[in-house]
Amino acid sequence: MLKKILVVDDSALIHQMYRIVMMKYHCEILDAMNGKEALDLISIHKDIDLILLDINMPVMNGVQFLEKASAMGIVKKIPVIIISTEGKEEDTVRGLKLGAKGYLKKPFDPKDLRELIAKIIPISSPASACTHNFNSL
Ligand SMILES: [Mg+2]
Repeated sequence: MLKKILVVDDSALIHQMYRIVMMKYHCEILDAMNGKEALDLISIHKDIDLILLDINMPVMNGVQFLEKASAMGIVKKIPVIIISTEGKEEDTVRGLKLGAKGYLKKPFDPKDLRELIAKIIPISSPASACTHNFNSL
């Protein structure tokens, strides 16, 4: 089952990294460079399964995004994981209070990211993803 993950981060490199980490797991990645772009994408794509959210971003940061998304009822429908750098604990605490489901510090181990995602949404392992591909031929 293809999962749609919205990555909200102002670093293009981070987007690429998520794509590499998750490509074996039947995940489609949508890219937003800030909270505002994320809200725009959410209004278009009604089937987003998960949001990976940076905190420090221009235009609309992660906390501002969560405030809006929470008020709009989005956080209740789509789980959010905050993935941010150390030393921003108050932002993380605020984010979790606004409904974020988890938190990971950058830089992260890809294995930790996959484990955290798997706790929140069911993702296929690479093996079962292969089986699925094979069966659908
Ligand atoms: Mg950032």
